[in-house]
Amino acid sequence: MLVLGARCLRRIGTAYAGTLLLVQSRRRQILTLAIETSCDDTSVAILEKRDHRRSSNGSSYSFPSTCHLHFHEKITANNSAHGGVHPIVALTSHQENLAALTAKALHNLPNVQSDDGDVSPIPGSTITLHALGRPAIEKQKPDFVSVTRGPGMRSSLTTGLDTAKGLAVAWQVPLVGVNHMQAHALTPRLVSALNDRADNANLAHEPYPAFPFLSLLVSGGHTLLLRTSALTTHTILATTTDIAIGDCIDKIARIVLPSEITNATSEISYGRLLEQFAFPNGSDDYNYTAPTTRAEEIARKQTKWTWALPPPLAETRSGLKSRSMEYSFSGLGSAVKRLCDSNPTMSTPERIELAREAFRLTFEHLASRVGWALTSLSEKGGQGQDVKTLVVSGGVASNGYLRTVLRSFLTARGFPHIGLSFPPVELCTDNAAMIAWAGMEMWEAGGESGLGCRALRKWSLDPLVEDGEILGAGCWKRREGHDD
Ligand code: AMP
Ligand code: ZN
Repeated sequence: MLVLGARCLRRIGTAYAGTLLLVQSRRRQILTLAIETSCDDTSVAILEKRDHRRSSNGSSYSFPSTCHLHFHEKITANNSAHGGVHPIVALTSHQENLAALTAKALHNLPNVQSDDGDVSPIPGSTITLHALGRPAIEKQKPDFVSVTRGPGMRSSLTTGLDTAKGLAVAWQVPLVGVNHMQAHALTPRLVSALNDRADNANLAHEPYPAFPFLSLLVSGGHTLLLRTSALTTHTILATTTDIAIGDCIDKIARIVLPSEITNATSEISYGRLLEQFAFPNGSDDYNYTAPTTRAEEIARKQTKWTWALPPPLAETRSGLKSRSMEYSFSGLGSAVKRLCDSNPTMSTPERIELAREAFRLTFEHLASRVGWALTSLSEKGGQGQDVKTLVVSGGVASNGYLRTVLRSFLTARGFPHIGLSFPPVELCTDNAAMIAWAGMEMWEAGGESGLGCRALRKWSLDPLVEDGEILGAGCWKRREGHDD
């Protein structure tokens, strides 16, 4: 299983992780083509990372940031007829789109003539693109291919993985099979590298946030609170015991949104529509004050319509207040359904209030476990106190009200110093850029995947969970020539 060297792993586990600058042959750059097909999004990216050091002829690079995305596109399968992701529809869409998207991406590879002056093509480091009626173009060949290996739908993953293997074999370059959840967790580090300018004060060009940090991954398929202490060391602090938060929001949206809104869209992810419906004037509609105590948080809030939604996991069946480090969303979804079923002609203002209350309770539920995790980590002394950032990613992280609730809640509970990091929306949802970045970090740390690696439907980040641990999945090998 684990083939990355011990020293290499020690480095991965320290502040060096992600900053081991690689000088491959004569180039001070790394280039990867990445493929993401874990669910219903087909996405391809080309990411380049450069060393900021001056070139040997003394001139500084004109390339302005640590990282540059040369290409990033995605195509989402049309699942509107199914009201949810249908595995065959997703597979068909990958089969129809992945090869064409990859072919398009190749034209966006950097040209061989680089802009840093001291780089000359190394034999075998270029690929030649031929287009009908045009002269052939020489492009830089990616140093390796990154691809999502899991977790996700096996058939979808396999389409991407097999395509990536084909490219790696044809180009004679390594393959890096990436854990999709690790990639979500590392996304803010990609964002910081994309924004990191050569002339900034961060001379070490450390990606932000530095390890350790907490991550809340909130998507259509996951609700995870993670502590990430190093590139490959992640501990699950809380996860859902039933449905994912995005799934819950989509179910509530289908019930609460007036039919004229749902009928007018081909989207199946209704979260964005529910947010617009609940808060048509954005933050002007929030009017949010965080509860300062747990008692206040779990008290049912009576609305002017006489109903009050139950906060998730406020009580166990025996009536005892629950303080478990877990999430649960299905109860709230059922409560909303019962309300709407009992009042099929519910007015729009009442529906708006219902949507707001559903958002408030799901987001406070998220926040309460983050608060407990921070309390417990800080009680452990140094280990917890060094957490300075909460990363929030996944599709639900694009919700503006979530940002307000989390910030207010953590401040009210004694954590005003914990910074919140939300990647931009296009990098919050499934995308190949994050796979490219995670592949880059793993590759720089000395890892690559064997060509026999297979798609993994389940692949937890946490070693304590069955099918867990990033390096626990077979087929990792130490990259040839990597200086351990
Ligand atoms: P992902 O699985 O990361 O692609 O995210 C998709 C999920 O995020 C779906 O369940 C969406 O309904 C949800 N989502 C997307 N935008 C929003 C939003 N603005 N508010 C709440 N949920 C959202
Ligand atoms: Zn995802």
